[in-house]
Amino acid sequence: MKARTSFEKQVAASNVRLTAIDPKVTEWGVKNLFNHPAFRVPSGLTTCGDCGHKFRHEGKGKYVVCPHCGHRLMIKDTLNRTHKESTYFAVLDTIDGLQVERVFILTVEFKKSQPLNFYNVEVCRLWLNAKGQTALTSKARTIGYYRDCFNWGSEIELRNMSDVHHIIANTWHYPRYKAIPELRRNGMKGALPDCHPFELMKALLTDTRIETLMKAGNHRAVKYFLSNKSMLDKCWNSHKIAMRNGYQIKDYGLWCDLIKLLDKAGKDTRNAKYICPVNLKVAHDLWLDKVTSADEKRRKSEELAKAKKEEKRFYQTKSCFFGIVIRDKDIEVSVLDSIEAYQNEGEAMHHCVFKCNYYSREDSLILSAHDKDGNRIETVEFSLTENKVIQSRGVCNTNTELHDRIVKLVNANAHRFIKARASA
Ligand SMILES: [Zn+2]
Repeated sequence: MKARTSFEKQVAASNVRLTAIDPKVTEWGVKNLFNHPAFRVPSGLTTCGDCGHKFRHEGKGKYVVCPHCGHRLMIKDTLNRTHKESTYFAVLDTIDGLQVERVFILTVEFKKSQPLNFYNVEVCRLWLNAKGQTALTSKARTIGYYRDCFNWGSEIELRNMSDVHHIIANTWHYPRYKAIPELRRNGMKGALPDCHPFELMKALLTDTRIETLMKAGNHRAVKYFLSNKSMLDKCWNSHKIAMRNGYQIKDYGLWCDLIKLLDKAGKDTRNAKYICPVNLKVAHDLWLDKVTSADEKRRKSEELAKAKKEEKRFYQTKSCFFGIVIRDKDIEVSVLDSIEAYQNEGEAMHHCVFKCNYYSREDSLILSAHDKDGNRIETVEFSLTENKVIQSRGVCNTNTELHDRIVKLVNANAHRFIKARASA
């Protein structure tokens, strides 16, 4: 890719001037970014992956310290003689007034009875100027979806930034970093929050809210809001007020959910009474319940309003059957006489008598069978063309032990429906 803008030209020029990194950086990576193995065979003979020294160790713990080199090792009970591992890591550097995140892939090879071997390859560089403009120089990608599909022999030069570059740049960084004065001025000092280093630097130059949070030393907030940018827009004003009130937020995900719920419930998201609860979890669950039941209520009334459009037709065809109650000594079966009654029946019995619009079916009549105390047992569909029960169902469409009795009882009274319709 050819440098077109003056910024790209500047990046291309600085890119070739960057020098190899200090060997201390690689040593840091080897020491801190891997679990170093101790190979142990069933006899208990253990070999240090770092120095190759052999010793006897039979303890049950996960780790052991090599008596020769003093390194802490993770025990691997294995007959394998080698172990190879790679990881990405980054160095934050400056050159010619530009900020750069240099991304490396570090590979370590542990071979039994040999000192450990490692090598470090620079993969890409993410560039940033004081205005927040970004560019990338990288080795060429090869065809493939895997992260590590790079042409290792290619040069690091100006290329288009892809998702892969963004993903591999989200990694550990060497703790001793350099920052351009603009970044230092905006709060990049000391240990950095555990987040995407490049995203952090970019945000510090382009978003004053992240700058404010960094200057306040609120790393937890920086980390959360950098990966949840839409929440930063939604919750920023509430967050400012919460901070002013000295409120400590331990779980940002939960707190931002609370703000969203309060907003949905129509509450004032700038009122410390709501946004600074003593127990965040309890407040979150309370508002979640309130919003859920309000949603539920709204959904129900919308459904009912829709169903009500057919109310006139329902009364025209079904009102002649209203008031019919069929009884024996334990059971009472009565005609559902309103659309609300269908909705209540469907909800109580967890079936689709309301949702599937049974009230608008001209050839069917729905009855509810209950015991003498009014507890629902089954819902009965009586066919007005066949003059008999075509289905009767209990809770969640299961049959109850009274099923056959209910069906028999309603069928035995079929003449009452025929009579009611004839006289209508
Ligand atoms: Zn050792």
